[in-house]
This record gives sequence, structure tokens and C-alpha cells, in this order.
Amino acid sequence: MKRAINFNAGPAALPMEVLLKAQEEMLDWRGTGMSVMEVSHRSSEYEAMHNESQELFRKLAGMGPEWKILFMTGGASTQFFMVPMNYLFRERKATYIVTGHWGKAAVKEAKRFGSIDVISTENEDGSFTRIPKQEELRIDPTSTYVHMTSNNTIYGSQWQYWPEVGGAPLVCDMSSDIFSRPFPVDKLALIYAGAQKNLGPSGVTLVAIRDDFLYLAQEQSKLPTMLSYRTFSENNSLYNTPPCFSIYILNLTLKWLLYSIGGLENMQKINEEKARILYEAIDSSEGFYRGPVEKESRSQMNVVFRLKTPEMEDAFIKQAKSAGIIGIRGHRSTGGIRFSIYNANLVDNIRKAVEFMEEFRLINR
Ligand SMILES: *Cc1c(COP(=O)(O)O)cnc(C)c1O
Repeated sequence: MKRAINFNAGPAALPMEVLLKAQEEMLDWRGTGMSVMEVSHRSSEYEAMHNESQELFRKLAGMGPEWKILFMTGGASTQFFMVPMNYLFRERKATYIVTGHWGKAAVKEAKRFGSIDVISTENEDGSFTRIPKQEELRIDPTSTYVHMTSNNTIYGSQWQYWPEVGGAPLVCDMSSDIFSRPFPVDKLALIYAGAQKNLGPSGVTLVAIRDDFLYLAQEQSKLPTMLSYRTFSENNSLYNTPPCFSIYILNLTLKWLLYSIGGLENMQKINEEKARILYEAIDSSEGFYRGPVEKESRSQMNVVFRLKTPEMEDAFIKQAKSAGIIGIRGHRSTGGIRFSIYNANLVDNIRKAVEFMEEFRLINR
């Protein structure tokens, strides 16, 4: 068996340990004589795993009991409308800081529900190459919430500081860098993330809401039952059938992060080292590889760069594939190359990627 050196942007690589454990438990999960996909979501075995996953999440994040951890479906894209649907009623207004494709998509949905202030770093040609500086953020402090995207998966930029937003609740789409580094939970009111980049498989979306912000959400009776945060909170995300298997893989991934890696501070050190190695290869390539993102806004999760021509990029991708390196074509809207180096891709894989880059450069420069 040969495992790919997998830099897919999402769904993405999972830790080997997680896959092996899932394989081992596939036919007889926790002595039930069934796989986790076949047990009732009302069984004590399932519920214990479900609750344990929330506890692991809180523990890793450093969140107290005031945080509700919800398991939802529909991906981060569903949160784009869930957040405004639950919060923008009675003339309430929100502010969106747009630093990439997904932030723009979130604004499009929010506009259906209320009035929105937008602070954007979009360039004239429609691209995004930077995170705004604190002094650029003129935020109406009466905003019901401020929405940001911590890591821009497609453009390859990432916030390297947490913005001051004048006391308004901060909502963050963390889909592509959740648990890649510690984050200041007391600055946040709601975070969400599709699991398929850094936390597990697709099918489950993590939403964490602080009690005092949950309290401001629309009444349950005014919304479709399944589109109300209160439904999920009041029923421990078990109002209907949750995505059991996805939550199970999430559970194993959180254990890997907590017990094998040793938590978010260790993960951050590893991720910093990975990004350093890759950006170093770009910066020392004498212009052969060019990163479009401003240095202080560079992402440690999605490393994006260009070669001289699209033809050369095609050749790069093709030859990388022969070397066992896959998933590096940039998003269809931007072109170029993108190495998505989420948590499960450890330093070894990055070194292999850099070796390949160096070889390719020496032959083609
Ligand atoms: C991938 C991604 C999304 C979209 O996620 P889905 O789960 O496919 O809806 C949203 N935001 C960010 C930052 C992403 O990286």
C-alpha cells in the first residue's frame, strides 16, 4: 500500500492514527458488535462519545462550560445564513470584515436578513492579498456582531493578530485553521468550522457559541426548527439524527490532537515550522516561485504561489503527481499552486514537497 502525500484543500488528509483506529473499530465499535454507523444515536454508547467530543473540543480550545458546542450539518456555507438568520432581526445590523472568497460569500447571505457594513481588502482586480491593519477597522460599536474569516483558504492569507472590534461580539469562520494554533476565546462570541479541513471528515460543522451571545439569538418559535441555534443548544445537537460517523472521526482526531500532539501550543509550533520551510523555499527561489500574499498576512495553512506561466504550473502539478504529491492545484478561481498544510500533514511531508520544488526549479529555471 502506498499513501499519497496529500495536500488537498478539503476534504483533506487525516492523521494515520485516526484512520487506523477507525479501521480497527469498524466492525465492532466499543463492544457493540456494530460499527458506529449502525448504532442508534439514542444509545448510551453513542451519547457518551458525542458528549466526550464536546468535552475534548472545550478542553483543546480552553473553553469553559459557558460555551455551547454544537454539531450541525450543511457545512460552513450553511452558517453563512444561519448566523444572520438567528441574529439580524428587528433592524439589527452587522459588520463583515471581508478578506477573501468565503467572507464575500458570507456577506451575500447576510444581506438577505439585514443591513451590513462591509470592510474589505479586495484589490481592484478582484483578488485578495492581505489582512487589514487594526487602524483600518472602523467598526460601528453598535453592530450586533462583527464577522471575520481567520484564514483565507483560497487566497492563502491568515490573520496574525486578533482584531479589536469595539466591544461588539466577534463571530469567526475558522473552517481552515481551527485548532492549528491557540486562540483567545474571551475575544470571541461564536466560531464555526466545517470539519473537513482540520478536524475530520465532511458532514459535521462545529459551532461554538458563548452563553451570553446565544441569549441574543432569535426565539426558536420564529425560525424553522432546524435553523435555530436554540434547537441545537437545548437538545444537545440531538434534536434529530446527527452525522454520527463524522462526529466519531472528529472524536478520534481531537484525541490525536490532545494526546499524541499534546494540544494547540505544540500544534502551533509544528505548523510554524512547516510554513517556515515552505515559504523559505519560495523566497529563496530567485523569483522562480512567487507568493502573491503580503508577507505579514501569509497563511500557515494554505501556502499559495505562482510559477512563470500557467503551462509551467501544469507541468509542476503533473510532475508532482508522479512523485506522489497530490492536491496542489490552486482554486479554480485563482489558478496557481496551493499546498494545504493542515494539522495532519506533518513536517516530513513538507520536506518532501520542498525537495520536489527544488528539483523542479533546478531543471526548469
Ligand atoms: C471551505 C471553507 C468554507 C466552505 O465550507 P463548506 O463546509 O464546504 O460549506 C467556508 N469558509 C472557509 C474559510 C472555508 O475554508
